[in-house]
Amino acid sequence: MERILEAKRLKKYYPIRKIGRRSYVKAVDNISFSVEKGEILGILGESGCGKTTLGRVITRLETENGGDIFFLGNNISGINYRKMKNFRQKMQVIFQNPYDSFDPRMTIIKSLETPMKLLNIGQSKKNRIEIIRDAMEKAKLTPAYDYLERYPHELSGGQLQRISMLRSMLLKPSFLVADECVSMLDASVRAEVLNMLLQFRSELETSILFITHDISVAKYMCDRIMVIYAGKVMEIADAKELISNPMHPYTKALISYSPTISPQKERERFTIAGEVVTPIDPPPGCRFASRCPFAKGICRTEEPEMKEISPGHFVACHLID
Ligand code: SF4
Repeated sequence: MERILEAKRLKKYYPIRKIGRRSYVKAVDNISFSVEKGEILGILGESGCGKTTLGRVITRLETENGGDIFFLGNNISGINYRKMKNFRQKMQVIFQNPYDSFDPRMTIIKSLETPMKLLNIGQSKKNRIEIIRDAMEKAKLTPAYDYLERYPHELSGGQLQRISMLRSMLLKPSFLVADECVSMLDASVRAEVLNMLLQFRSELETSILFITHDISVAKYMCDRIMVIYAGKVMEIADAKELISNPMHPYTKALISYSPTISPQKERERFTIAGEVVTPIDPPPGCRFASRCPFAKGICRTEEPEMKEISPGHFVACHLID
């Protein structure tokens, strides 16, 4: 297997002022993981758990406060997005709201052709337009001319998100971060967008960091899933293993919330109260302790270590021996 991306002990802290002293929101706190060629790694958690921050740090939209990121064997830690020129083509990002990722004054054809030109893809404008038309036909965005001369606001969210994916894939990236890419779309178009992403993965062997709060979408899309809570990894495993044999109480709760995955009995058994805590100067111990129905003394004093309970299945919980 070829390793495309590796994050080691990654940290992103935001300073805030709190009653006259400086505190930190530890949005990403000592997170390590890797992504292999052609793999889809899901980052799963509720809103506010740090998953979007993690995606922004990986794509260099934000710089980390500690740790290392290796991309295609190069250490890109400390490099910001502007300085990522050599890697920009190879690492792409798809945002939640497609309208935010297009210039409203540019036609679709210009939005697609400009990055190709900047990255020297295609011999001429005519050639680039041919490439775009072919890709649109293949992605069943037809007839292509019906889309290309339009402006973003003239398209639906689902159409524009598919074009956003197409724009990324025209650059043949090795790695893609898809951040809640279907959460704003109608259920009727979600499957189309997800299938398009799967098709690109199999054609280009692109590795994908798939950020979502929806475990049923993660189950459909991902090879492995990493569950995070308040800036920390709780559990990571092969997707099928994680869903059929969740070990961490937080993972169990997420699964039990999903009506499509969990039967009614499980839903009742693993309900947790409250919302994700904001990790401002978090106390020692497990970040999930304030919501965990199984919390005991040690959970509030000692941070649980990540343990491998079966090959590739890691859990951070004091309940796991
Ligand atoms: Fe719950 Fe303790 Fe496990 Fe944290 S370490 S999930 S608080 S049992």
